[in-house]
Amino acid sequence: MVLRMDYRTDVWVDWCPGCGDYGILTALQKALAELGLKPWEVAIVSGIGCSGKTPHFIYANGVHTLHGRAIPFATGLKLARPDLKVIIDGGDGDLLGIGAGHFVALGRRNLDVTVLIHDNQVYGLTKGQASPTLPAGVKTKALPKPNLQDAVNPIALAVASGYTFVARAYAMDVNHLKELIKLAVNHKGSAVIDILQPCVTYNDLYTTEWYRRRVYKLDSEPGWDPVVRDPSEREEKASRALEKAREWGDRVPVGIFYWDQTREPFEERLARRIPSYLDSPPALQPIERGGAPVVDAERLKRIFSGYLVRRRR
Ligand code: SF4
Repeated sequence: MVLRMDYRTDVWVDWCPGCGDYGILTALQKALAELGLKPWEVAIVSGIGCSGKTPHFIYANGVHTLHGRAIPFATGLKLARPDLKVIIDGGDGDLLGIGAGHFVALGRRNLDVTVLIHDNQVYGLTKGQASPTLPAGVKTKALPKPNLQDAVNPIALAVASGYTFVARAYAMDVNHLKELIKLAVNHKGSAVIDILQPCVTYNDLYTTEWYRRRVYKLDSEPGWDPVVRDPSEREEKASRALEKAREWGDRVPVGIFYWDQTREPFEERLARRIPSYLDSPPALQPIERGGAPVVDAERLKRIFSGYLVRRRR
């Protein structure tokens, strides 16, 4: 049996008191434990920002990478070790600003990983500048003037990019978020959860109180069914998800917007091209047999010395 405690580290969690990040951390630890995953079967990859500290707080494989580069790093990791459950944990600025190209590319691939977006509409770590999800015309307390740029809609971008599990959650509803994370991690393909998260220090507009009065669950809507069970349903379900993604104001929907259970993940397509791929992925191939190296080190030396010579010129 795996417990939430198994995913705790003794690193001091230094987020501001009241930050929504705590809810996300708790939900993620609980979800991994309830899925029965062992810490060594999981890898958490983050970029830069307040959310980037998450791998330090979770006892599992973890990498704190460069700003905007969590997705390409996680892609390499997943391709080398397709047996791992890989979770990308990043902020809205990181994943939808500097990392937006990688975000789109991941949806196109439908690689079997999960993306958690800490969506607080500001760059919290660098003192509250407007992030890509802050609507135009609004002014948080850290901005000298109202925001001049329009916002990216993470749900619409994810559906348009090809993600096959697209959901939104609210960080302060830990149980609901935990259940969505469990579905996303078990989903075969690229999954994304846009997690609305109060930044109590820099965002005085989208507060806990603001969300508490507006957030409602999509599955309480009569007839809401986001699941694609046949490819012929994709267009209609995607259109409904895009329409719902525009709802932001008096009511803010959370839950699953789109869930395509028919599209093949990237790893399976790759395995058809390279039949040994899943049984013998790159990071699990032997490097020696009977004491003799499998890799021709001399050949590698020749290749890399040639590369270095060419670079010097
Ligand atoms: Fe959380 Fe904002 Fe503090 Fe960062 S600055 S830890 S997002 S409250």
